Amino acid sequence: MENQRNSGLENPIEKYPKPPYPGQQQPFPGLASKMDPLPDHGEKSYIGSGRLKGRKALITGGDSGIGRAAAIAYAREGADVAINYLPAEESDAQEVIALIEAAGQKGYAIPGDITDYAFCEKLVEEATASLGGLDILVNNAGRQQASESILDITNESFDATMKTNIYAPFWITKAALPHLEPGSVIIATTSVQAYDPAGILFDYAQTKAANVAYVKSLSKQLGAKGIRVNGVSPGPIWTPLQVCGGQPAEAIPEFGKMAELERAGQPAELAGIFVLLASNEGSYSTGQVFGAAGGMGHP
Ligand code: NAD
Ligand code: MG
Repeated sequence: MENQRNSGLENPIEKYPKPPYPGQQQPFPGLASKMDPLPDHGEKSYIGSGRLKGRKALITGGDSGIGRAAAIAYAREGADVAINYLPAEESDAQEVIALIEAAGQKGYAIPGDITDYAFCEKLVEEATASLGGLDILVNNAGRQQASESILDITNESFDATMKTNIYAPFWITKAALPHLEPGSVIIATTSVQAYDPAGILFDYAQTKAANVAYVKSLSKQLGAKGIRVNGVSPGPIWTPLQVCGGQPAEAIPEFGKMAELERAGQPAELAGIFVLLASNEGSYSTGQVFGAAGGMGHP
């Protein structure tokens, strides 16, 4: 034990709360601040070292979960950060803006619904105007609603999942591309569901497979322009998405138990990957998908 403390070694099994978690449900889109236990987005732990100094990032779904972990890390690495989220998530978003500012960087909150094409164009316009340009685009926002049967998925719900997870990244990327100079990066959040879909995530899993194809195809278009496109593929991560319909309510206490690391991952455990993919250190990685799935998945 003494030896472990001195060397900074952290046992990944013991690092974070393990199942069983308290049962809980929230209405969509949910708030990180209402989760029990609170997710770790790196608020107290992430230490930057200037790897993104002067960079300008737009992160969708930057209010909570994986997007918030990326936002905190990017700011502490020296980037200014604009975040998008739904109006109902304003309180989570304001916590993130305060954390970005505490890191000495500029933070911009741009609420709005990305299932709306006109808003996606406006989002990119506002973000680039506020940031004074754009060189990191993170398409991370997502919608996941579990359903036992395809017969229970309404056309409206299917449409909302497709719009959020596939159309919005298409619209946002098109609007952002004219602003991206060589050295810029695009990062998509995909999922283990792209490779090994659960029966209850029929529609969502298809969108995450589409996100992998987005990375593989777009990286081929943009390689010659010096713009890198990569993906992050998380396993079960403790975020609001999972407690507002992403999993059946009865599955929450055991969430992540099937992973080799025997627990859900925390958003903070993905921050380093988002930083690597955005930074100059990652300059030979494009068209790649990096995993953080506790021993599951096939990125
Ligand atoms: P989260 O709930 O913290 O983040 C998702 C965000 O998406 C929300 O905060 C919300 O701001 C945004 N969003 C949803 N619909 C929107 C809309 N119509 N307009 C604007 N914003 C909208 O959950 P998370 O788990 O951090 O999700 C982030 C990404 O990670 C998603 O793409 C999700 O598919 C992916 N992912 C999550 C897990 C997991 O286990 N949590 C696993 C694999 C992949
Ligand atoms: Mg949120």
